[in-house]
Amino acid sequence: MINTPNGQTIELIVDSKGFCFCPVCGERANVKVWRPYDKFGYPTYDICSCGFEYGFDDGGEPPYEKSWENYRTKWYAGELDFGNSKTLPKSQKDQQLAQIGALQE
Ligand SMILES: [Zn+2]
Repeated sequence: MINTPNGQTIELIVDSKGFCFCPVCGERANVKVWRPYDKFGYPTYDICSCGFEYGFDDGGEPPYEKSWENYRTKWYAGELDFGNSKTLPKSQKDQQLAQIGALQE
């Protein structure tokens, strides 16, 4: 659990080997040390394959989680013109989202 500078809390999902998942699309990091937010809740401004930029796409609408959800819905529906929203097969999206417990209806 990370307490963010704006008073929210975020929970990052990390697998048993220490690799973190994107909290939006569930893609597993290639690098073990990678995190979208540091331990103080400050964003990395990295951009995931899903197109989500931590520190930008989550800005202005706390809590973070809702901005994740809103973005995730559009990403899953293939409605985004950037990232892999339109190109990643639904089966792969489902597989990723299952990893973070965020399967879409
Ligand atoms: Zn992502």
